[in-house]
Amino acid sequence: MVKEPDCNLIKVYETLLTTFGPQNWWPAEGPEEMIIGALLTQNTTWKNVEKALANLRSHNQLSFSAISTLPLPELQKRIKPSGYFRQKSERLKALATAIINAGGLRQLAQKETLDLRTWFIALKGVGPETADSILLYAFKRPLFVIDAYTLRICKRHNWLPSSTDYAKAQNYFSCQLAPDPAIFNEFHALLVQIGKNFCRPKNPLCKKCPLNHLLD
Ligand code: SF4
Repeated sequence: MVKEPDCNLIKVYETLLTTFGPQNWWPAEGPEEMIIGALLTQNTTWKNVEKALANLRSHNQLSFSAISTLPLPELQKRIKPSGYFRQKSERLKALATAIINAGGLRQLAQKETLDLRTWFIALKGVGPETADSILLYAFKRPLFVIDAYTLRICKRHNWLPSSTDYAKAQNYFSCQLAPDPAIFNEFHALLVQIGKNFCRPKNPLCKKCPLNHLLD
């Protein structure tokens, strides 16, 4: 499963899994809800996304078919808690329509991983992080998701230079870990726990952090 048993990342993964236990991500009921949530979570907290998802669910509109036919003002009303609701409503509607026109998720799942990634990134509002989240959590493809938490942790530990970009950071993880979607899934979720609870943008709580022993 793992290529290099002594590398930093494996120690990090084991420490986090022992500390927090399995995170059972993504918090969604099925791939459709996961993908909708992945787009809504841009530039906001998951709490706000949950409110938007609950609005859609309570109106029986938490699906690509409902979203693709929903008038924009109504969609904006539903997803307003997630912020940037005008922009997100257009992008979400376009994403839902594109998936339906492509034959649905089962048809898209026939694509090779990099083709599928390219397909999603070509959609407006879907960048590498959103695309990789979708590929990892909805399609179970082995792509490591790099988010702001992961970058901050890696840079503070000097695992990555401050100038590193998304692709280099992703490569850093891919080179050290075997391409196992289950591990990538769990590892990303565990890093989010650290980022939220300890490795804050200002005043990180290093003394209490489970990764403290891995600091230089
Ligand atoms: S030990 Fe400090 S720098 Fe490292 S992850 Fe924890 S809070 Fe961040």
